Amino acid sequence: MKIPYAEPFKTKMIENIRLSTKDERQSWIQKAKYNLFNLHSDQVFIDLLTDSGTGAMSDRQWGALMTGDESYAGSSSFFKLKEIIKELTGFDYFLPTHQGRAAENVLFSAIIKEGDMIPGNAHFDTTKGHIEFRKAHAIDCTEKKAYDTESLEPFKGNLDLELLKNVFKENSPEKIPVIIVTLTCNTIGGQPVSMNNLKKVYHLAKKHNTRVFFDSARFAENAYFIKEREEGYQNKTIKEIVKEMFSYADGMTMSSKKDGIVNIGGFIAFKEKDWFEKATVFNIMFEGFITYGGMAGRDMNALAQGLYEVTEYDYLKSRISQVAYLGEKLKEYGIPIQKPYGGHAIFVNASKFLKQIPKEEFPAQTLAIELYLEAGVRAVEIGAIMADRDPETKENRYPKLEMVRLAIPRRVYSNNHMDVVAAALSNIYERREKLTRGVSIIKEAPILRHFTVEIKRLH
Ligand SMILES: *Cc1c(COP(=O)(O)O)cnc(C)c1O
Repeated sequence: MKIPYAEPFKTKMIENIRLSTKDERQSWIQKAKYNLFNLHSDQVFIDLLTDSGTGAMSDRQWGALMTGDESYAGSSSFFKLKEIIKELTGFDYFLPTHQGRAAENVLFSAIIKEGDMIPGNAHFDTTKGHIEFRKAHAIDCTEKKAYDTESLEPFKGNLDLELLKNVFKENSPEKIPVIIVTLTCNTIGGQPVSMNNLKKVYHLAKKHNTRVFFDSARFAENAYFIKEREEGYQNKTIKEIVKEMFSYADGMTMSSKKDGIVNIGGFIAFKEKDWFEKATVFNIMFEGFITYGGMAGRDMNALAQGLYEVTEYDYLKSRISQVAYLGEKLKEYGIPIQKPYGGHAIFVNASKFLKQIPKEEFPAQTLAIELYLEAGVRAVEIGAIMADRDPETKENRYPKLEMVRLAIPRRVYSNNHMDVVAAALSNIYERREKLTRGVSIIKEAPILRHFTVEIKRLH
């Protein structure tokens, strides 16, 4: 018999979770104004809200916490982190920040001004928020196939070079300080960008004398897909692939809460000194002195170890196989999802799932609420609520895809938990035609409204 696959780790500590009753969930979600961000975590059985900061650290990471150096200036933990960043990316300059959006805030304060155009592949919500907050524009240049959830295109995160060229044709180069490439592309389903595309985008940027920064939250997952799917990379190690990826960038912002496998942290890294020096001023103002930037020494230590572990093939295989396991189950039950399966999450196509609910009634939020009620599973809407209103017209923006994201924390849940999620969605799918009305918004913030929005169900 062939020996089946198993995770390359075992459990050393556990945290109890409890499945609530449907009555309890009815009352909790009502009190939460039907916004899943408002639920208390003990009201949730399986929490797939996000893979951000929710991963389980290894024993070596916990060990590293104990040897953190809490010196205000010149901490050895800073230099340990600097060393692994240099080893993985080749970048000489780096600034720690307290998380990914802080990295965006610091970097964009230094380089983006009003009226600038920032092309990229489906910018993440905080990235777009930080661009629009500065009255600049995030231009989506994602490959069109990304928006066809049935297409099996292996690199749906790619940028469409024609769209990108048009941005350069229509705007003067000083209006485009940077192209932001998100690895993997979270918004469209954790879809990877190919090495070939990274190379072409970089060459195009250099031709127009602009720079490329990677929004690198899931850079290691992207490298795994390159190894698995792109010709010529099968025999390279993940660390070699990562190094080549970053050779096509001038720098990076990082949310360490994802592929750093830590609970908090972020950083910016730079190839050149000029932007590093500009950003340093803002880092000191917003985050902290340059050798800690909002992170404790112990957290920098745990991150350094996390970056080492996340770029090991065995870890990535277990991670991405679990996401695919959930994807396969949902496919078996006929549930419409983004294909191929992403790196950190399965995205359910809510407008196909709940065809009868018009986009004005937010089908993805409606489905996320149903899933919570069904089995205490918390997912997140990646659709019109998250897309915010147009900053100029104030109209709702309806993105090309209206999805529910099932984000899987790293090294946290077993495949039994995935079975529960799949069964819950299948039950809802069976009775989907009974769901005839969606939800409406009662109260919202002017930017990043999904975090605090108040909602009511329409009956
Ligand atoms: C999470 C994330 C961010 C923001 O990082 P935080 O650590 O949550 O502030 C930016 N870009 C991408 C692609 C992300 O996934």
